[in-house]
Amino acid sequence: MNKSQNKVLLHICCAPCSASSMKVLHTNYNVSFYWYNPNIWDFDEYKKRKDSAIKYAKELNITFYEHQNFVYNYKIWEKESLETCKLCYCLRLAKVALFAKSNNFDFFTTSLLSSPYQKHDLVKQISENISSQYLVKFLYADFREFFYEGKNELKQKGYYTQKYCACNKSYKERFENK
Ligand code: SF4
Repeated sequence: MNKSQNKVLLHICCAPCSASSMKVLHTNYNVSFYWYNPNIWDFDEYKKRKDSAIKYAKELNITFYEHQNFVYNYKIWEKESLETCKLCYCLRLAKVALFAKSNNFDFFTTSLLSSPYQKHDLVKQISENISSQYLVKFLYADFREFFYEGKNELKQKGYYTQKYCACNKSYKERFENK
C-alpha cells in the first residue's frame, strides 16, 4: 500500500488519544492532525492540551492544522446530556470533514474513537452521517485497544494528560461531584 495515496486527516482531541490512533494508522496512512476543540474549559486547560498536541505532531513530524483558537460559550455547554455531547461531536467532526474535503484528503477520522470514556457508537454514527452528507470518506477504526498503552507512553515522556472530557460540565462532574 502506498502511504502517499492514503491521506488521512485525524481530528486530534488531545495528544494521548492521538497516540492510540497513530498505533493503528501509522503503517498504512499518511496522517495529518487537525485541531478543533472549541469548548475546552478553561483557557489554561485548552492551551495545555493544544501545546501538548503540537509537541506530539512535532515529535512525529506530522503536519498540524487548526481551525481557530479558543471560543467559549458557557451557556451551550452548561448542561451535559446526550444531546449536548451530540452537538459537541457534530461541531468538531463537521469541521474536520469539510477541511478534509477542501484539501484533498482521502479520509477523515478522529481520536475521539480512542477513548473508552467517549460515546464511541455515537461518534461513529455522527461521522458516518457527516461522511454521506459532505461526500468525504470517513475512516472508521476502533482505537480503544491502544488507549492505555498510548496514554502511558506519552505520560512517561512528560506529556500533559487531562483528567476530564473537556467542557465545563465535565470539569464540574470530575472535580465538584456535580
Ligand atoms: S462531556 Fe465531552 S463530549 Fe460531552 S459535551 Fe462535554 S466536552 Fe463534549
